[in-house]
Order: sequence, then structure tokens, then C-alpha cells
Amino acid sequence: MNLRGIFAVCALSGLLFGSHVQAQNVGACPAPQNAAELEALPVPPRDRTELAIRLLGLASPQPAAAPPNYQIGDKEFFFVVNDDESIPVQATLRVMGEHIYLWVESDAANEISNADLEAIAHVFDTRVYPETRALWGDEANPGFDGDSHIYGVFTNGLGATAAAYFSSDNSAPAGTVPSGNGHEMFMFNLDVLAYGIDIPSIASIVAHEFHHMIRHNLQPGMELWMNEGLSEFTQTYLFDDPGYAVFDFMYRPDTQLNTWAEAGDLRGYHYGAALAWITYFYERYGIEALEQVAAANSQRGLLAFDQVLQQMGEPGVMICLLIGSSPMPSIRWTMLAFTTIQYSGF
Ligand SMILES: [Zn+2]
Repeated sequence: MNLRGIFAVCALSGLLFGSHVQAQNVGACPAPQNAAELEALPVPPRDRTELAIRLLGLASPQPAAAPPNYQIGDKEFFFVVNDDESIPVQATLRVMGEHIYLWVESDAANEISNADLEAIAHVFDTRVYPETRALWGDEANPGFDGDSHIYGVFTNGLGATAAAYFSSDNSAPAGTVPSGNGHEMFMFNLDVLAYGIDIPSIASIVAHEFHHMIRHNLQPGMELWMNEGLSEFTQTYLFDDPGYAVFDFMYRPDTQLNTWAEAGDLRGYHYGAALAWITYFYERYGIEALEQVAAANSQRGLLAFDQVLQQMGEPGVMICLLIGSSPMPSIRWTMLAFTTIQYSGF
């Protein structure tokens, strides 16, 4: 939040004084020591297992010695979450892929065919799983359930908008989170997908969620705006997703980059801002630089970009964001980012 304050002040200067600022020594942009120190402090991740041990008195959970031995047709109850509540849903195991098990709500068995499920498992095994891991790293494998497979559950009742979600609560050991399921898993919303099963679109969506799963294993405390931005970028980079969220952002180009909105109808602006910035960074510095930013031992938020930029001999994120080595010094980074993105859909 302190960095936000610095950014606002610098941005205002650039807008008010335009070319006058170009002539100044940009290194003089003030960087209050206290703000920098606060930003650099480690923030403990929200570790549900540690909280359950410390506050609920649970014994330290041990990973399962062996994975469950499932067969096609087996049934399990899973908690699924919508905007208001967590609901237990019985699901049937329909497809067993190399890396993913696909379950379908038993009462919605006819809402998705086995052929579509097998196609989804195939694209996950052959593209989403290897390519997303090659880009970012590995998910917990095996997790506390002892199972190297990821679980995907197709169900109704997740709300009107979300096509799928990943919840880190499900990765916590069974019993530590009341509505957790004890597996690395994705939930798919049949209410949304029932309008048409488009395998490339689903693959892109799953890559978004898989990045979140990997990120939870590597950096559970990553700032949300950056976590979502990297998930959106994964879709654009691996699946040529056109990045429509950037158009939302263009309606509100003053959206603060390193923040997030609780209200669902405002999140599109933040998805777009984060995607625009990360795509801009990638197009200018390359995928290896972005992978360094997202490395497990990197710093938080904009400080991670700052560190990598300085290692490359660039002035650092604050100056690059605003007026540094840009060919259009008085234009804010948001506009630069937008103009560099390639839109495959247009
Ligand atoms: Zn996301």
C-alpha cells in the first residue's frame, strides 16, 4: 500500500509536468525509506495447516502412504463453493487420465459426454500439464493425499460467471479445513460450460487454474494481482488467448496495478491491468526475465520486477514504469503496455 502511494505521486508528476519531467534526473524520484522497508518485509503465507495445528490443536498431518485406488464409476463427496456457501456434492469418476481424474456430479451425469471428458483429459495430459509446468514449475506432487493425480470435478451451482476455480483450501490436508477436500483439484462449472464444450477454451481456462495451483506450491503468499496476471498471461502465452480483459482495463486505465477488487464486477479491470503489464514486460524483456520475476525465491509484487530489471542493468521498476528508457517518456506504462499487446482475435 505504501508503494501504491509512491506510484501515485510519481504518476501525478508525469501527468502534470509532461516534458518538463523528462529533463529531470528521474533517479531523484523520492523513495521513502520506511515504505521501502515495509514492502521488503516478508509476509507470512496463510498456511491453513499451520493454523489448524496452532489454533485448533490438530496433530501434525502426515502425507498418505499410498494414493487411493480408484476405478471408473467410483463415487465420492466433494465440497464445492459458490459465492455464498460450501455444498457437498456426490460425483462419479468418469475418466482417468495420466495426470488428472475427471469426476462429474452424479445428478448431472448427462450434462457432459465421456467423449468430451476424454478430450479434456487428453489436452490436459499432453499440453496443459507439461507446458504450464515447464513455464512456471511444479504443483505439490504428490500432495498430502499421496496421489500424483489432480482431481477435476464438473458440477452445477458454482454461480453464474466462473467457468472454473482452484482453491488452495482443497490442497490442505483432509481435516484441517472444514470445507476442504484434501486433494489438488479444479472445479468446473457445468452451468457455464453447458452452453458448449469448446476444448481449446477449456484447455486455456485450466492452464489459468493450473498456474494458481503451481503458484500455491511455490509462493503461497504471492500478491493476488500478480498471481492473477501470471495466470492470465499463461493463457495468452500458451493458448493464444486474446486477452480480452485488457479491453476492460481500457475503460479504466487509471486502475491501480498492484491492487485487487473484492467486488466481482470490478475485477475485470484488475485482470486487464495485470495482464497488460506482464505482457508488456514479457514482450520487452523476454520469457526468461519473466520466469525470473516469478521464481520461487523472488521478492513480492513490483519488487520482484524491480530486482530483475536492475539485474539486467535497467533503472528499476519505478523509473521504467513511468518515464525511464521508454521511447515515449511522458506516457504512462499502461498505455505502453496496451499498444504492445498482439491480439490474435482481432
Ligand atoms: Zn485466476
